[in-house]
Amino acid sequence: MGHDVVVVGSVNADLVLQVDRHPRPGETLLGRDAVTLPGGKGANQAVAAARLGASVALVGAVGTDPDAAVALSLLTSAGVDLTHVATVDWPTGLAVVTLADDGENTIVVVPGANAAVTPAAVDAAHDVVAGGRVCVLQAEIPLDAVGRAAHVAHRAGARVLLNVAPATTLPDDVVRLADPLVVNEHEAALLLGRPITAGAEGARDAAAELAARGPGSVVVTLGTSGVVGHEAGASWSWPAVRVDAVDTTGAGDAFVGALAARLAAGDALRDAAAFATRVAAASVTRLGAQPSYPWATNPLP
Ligand code: ADP
Repeated sequence: MGHDVVVVGSVNADLVLQVDRHPRPGETLLGRDAVTLPGGKGANQAVAAARLGASVALVGAVGTDPDAAVALSLLTSAGVDLTHVATVDWPTGLAVVTLADDGENTIVVVPGANAAVTPAAVDAAHDVVAGGRVCVLQAEIPLDAVGRAAHVAHRAGARVLLNVAPATTLPDDVVRLADPLVVNEHEAALLLGRPITAGAEGARDAAAELAARGPGSVVVTLGTSGVVGHEAGASWSWPAVRVDAVDTTGAGDAFVGALAARLAAGDALRDAAAFATRVAAASVTRLGAQPSYPWATNPLP
């Protein structure tokens, strides 16, 4: 039996440093706290979908270092199938996140083992990628592997959810396979080469312009302004669910994981997106990315 959701993507350890303010170039600062948490967009999205009850497989890679155990810890407890997560002779992907008191953060990501998720690695996992209902892709692994996975999944009749995060340029033949293409406001602006005009209409225009590039559908997430979608020539939108936000880290990944889980269950995109805004809202009410994601039994806002 195939999986509901197959994520081909990144697995990282996030080293989160808390500082009063960001250091200037050349400056040494004392930090208050340092903690290593599981992260990586691929892993985050896999955990989000699995906690909601989807059967999920992850295709990825980690190193032989101690960070690997941290990076895989919540994937394991969520029951994600890690058969196709390779252990390679590079350090586990590392994101160094500096959180300052003004709420701004800076992030440096060193891909490490994620660079081993090549087209050949996708081919080695061919049957699992081809056997899933929804294939979820982001841009934190080599982009030729993203393209290979999109083609393998699409050819097999799986739905391709392409989250172009971080923003990057993908070939048109890959973008056309997306259904949906999912981006946040910043990624949409970078893909379009222009800022998104503020307000609902500006976001709808951006989604329509992205749809003109050929994906089956487009979803643009807008933080506290919710989400707009474009499908079959028509657009729709949902407001964000109002909650007291504690930490918005990984909200987009919660949204994508939930969207994938509901699409795999047969929901229409619009309905899946409405559900995903509730899951993402739940995630911002708790600290961290993966630890904040709700389980199927948790009441949603
Ligand atoms: P990213 O995390 O990729 O930057 P967004 O900030 O657009 O993505 O967030 C993704 C989704 O999460 C939004 O469409 C929204 O539904 C939800 N969300 C984000 N921030 C909040 C918030 N403060 N309150 C409620 N929902 C939020």
